[in-house]
Amino acid sequence: MHNSEPLPGSHPREISRVVRGLPATDGAGVELTRVIGQPALPMVDPFLLLDAFRSDRPGDYIAGFPPHPHRGFETVTYLLAGRMRHRDNAGHEGVIEPGGVQWMTAGRGIVHSEMPEQEEGLLEGFQLWVNLPAAHKMDAPAYQEFPADSIPTEQHDGGTVVRVIAGETAAGTRGPVVQPLTDPLYLDVELGPDGAFVEPLPSAHRGFVYVIDGELSADDANPPGMVMRRDDLGVLSLGDSVSLHAGANGARFLLIAGRPLNEPVARGGPFVMNTQREIREAQADYAAGRF
Ligand code: MN
Repeated sequence: MHNSEPLPGSHPREISRVVRGLPATDGAGVELTRVIGQPALPMVDPFLLLDAFRSDRPGDYIAGFPPHPHRGFETVTYLLAGRMRHRDNAGHEGVIEPGGVQWMTAGRGIVHSEMPEQEEGLLEGFQLWVNLPAAHKMDAPAYQEFPADSIPTEQHDGGTVVRVIAGETAAGTRGPVVQPLTDPLYLDVELGPDGAFVEPLPSAHRGFVYVIDGELSADDANPPGMVMRRDDLGVLSLGDSVSLHAGANGARFLLIAGRPLNEPVARGGPFVMNTQREIREAQADYAAGRF
């Protein structure tokens, strides 16, 4: 049952590339999968990094991310399982729980820790880095934090569930996170067996899908008929809609898109600016305790 007819007059996006993440270790020894921000996929403008973590072995996550700085972009943590405690040098503190999101604008600089609030059990989730335009990299830090019960959910026929974290769907559901600088769409979509999902997407946005579970195909894919599975990231070509369908066991995936900044990107670990000179300034400011 693929009732995924293209939207009238639309130019559907293809899955132009499928990328697998690389095993990586970050923080004080957290084992994770780096999907965006690795040699095969340095970025999907405005997205600088996507880490996926999923482990029920405490040794993979218990060391957490002790205090570290950020400048020049936003970090977005979305948890599916487990709990993470967040604390920063401005006295802000909280716990992210399953289904909850923390959208942190680091702006000119913050020093924070992100530590598992559990000693055993499954920890699963994602961290996405969203770039800020040059004119806003030195803005004051800010938070948008929402627990699972304040993230609106759409239910469609056939078992489709859409959690809207940011952006707006065709049905008019609006996510609680607001960021006009990149106008992000961040959806967590579950499809039932053979379920279909068709959504318009702003034509200038860049985006991708990341398969959490099951099998997912794009109605327009290169090569045709290509199937994405758990932990595959599919880069979307340009177009104004996306049309996907699940395999016989359903699928769950993230659909993330945003307006590209088309600016130079200079990276220095936890700092992402426009020039190497700005990276050196960030390092000097951090070393001097000016964050
Ligand atoms: Mn961090």
